Amino acid sequence: MFDNLSEKLDKAFHILKGHGKITEVNVADTLKEVRRALLDADVNFKIAKDFTTKVKEKAIGENVLTTLQPGQLMVKLVKDELTELMGGDATGINLSGNPTVILMSGLQGSGKTTFSGKLANYLKTKKNKKPLLVACDIYRPAAINQLHVVGGQIGVEVYSEEGNRNPVEIAQNAIKHAKANGFNVVIVDTAGRLAVDEEMMNEIANVHKAIQPQETLFVVDAMTGQDAVNTAKAFNDRLNFDGVILTKLDGDTRGGAAISIKSVVDKPIKFIGTGEKMEAIDVFYPNRMSERILG
Ligand code: GDP
Repeated sequence: MFDNLSEKLDKAFHILKGHGKITEVNVADTLKEVRRALLDADVNFKIAKDFTTKVKEKAIGENVLTTLQPGQLMVKLVKDELTELMGGDATGINLSGNPTVILMSGLQGSGKTTFSGKLANYLKTKKNKKPLLVACDIYRPAAINQLHVVGGQIGVEVYSEEGNRNPVEIAQNAIKHAKANGFNVVIVDTAGRLAVDEEMMNEIANVHKAIQPQETLFVVDAMTGQDAVNTAKAFNDRLNFDGVILTKLDGDTRGGAAISIKSVVDKPIKFIGTGEKMEAIDVFYPNRMSERILG
């Protein structure tokens, strides 16, 4: 994961590790390389710039030039700042409702349906919950079938209404069904489009308003870099969602989305998707991620 970024950061620190005596110029050069590595990973320019400014201030504050191992201290400062940028502490999922209602949002192809299944499976097997999956994509019958296939794989019931063209009604009926049948989590999978459009936003905003979910999650493909961040902003402006799900982190992604998204929308990444299988879901821990990036 993020191999290219790890390699470049490692190279940046070589500048410091190779010197007997460290100068301000060496530190500045290292930070320049760190910034370049972030930009190459598709981190937004302003975020990368602020990042290195903050690390520089801390390096001055900690008198990096006079420490015995300035290279190691710089790695630590960068690691801490990366953790902070990605959200600090891990944020759990709010399971307070009865039933807990979770609304999934995101573009078509982002991995929403797959993740809905993964989350249901996670809650069932790890949190001892009885989830219900709800198919609210009224445009693509294939999407409804896909959710039924996923539900079948993990042994979770899927609620759908053939012929009903009103996603608000389907979601509301599903919650009634959940209450009547002892389901304590309802995961509502909604229709996505290939790009942000008004109709999709209105539809999901209406569903959101009608069912008042405890958790509104925004699913985004990590491979899409800066686009992921822009899409997150558009969805957050309408839905004020609670958390982000970054999918496809098993692919050849550069890391920009994972690093930038929190600071742009000020919402935590809650889970990551790391494969197509139902088990390929992980809670997102910012510190573990920066540990991985910096080795
Ligand atoms: P939706 O249109 O948002 O519901 O997206 P889907 O759930 O149908 O996912 C789109 C494609 O991405 C499918 O082929 C999934 O198997 C794949 N996919 C979803 N999540 C992941 C992931 O974490 N890793 C990988 N490699 N593929 C994923």
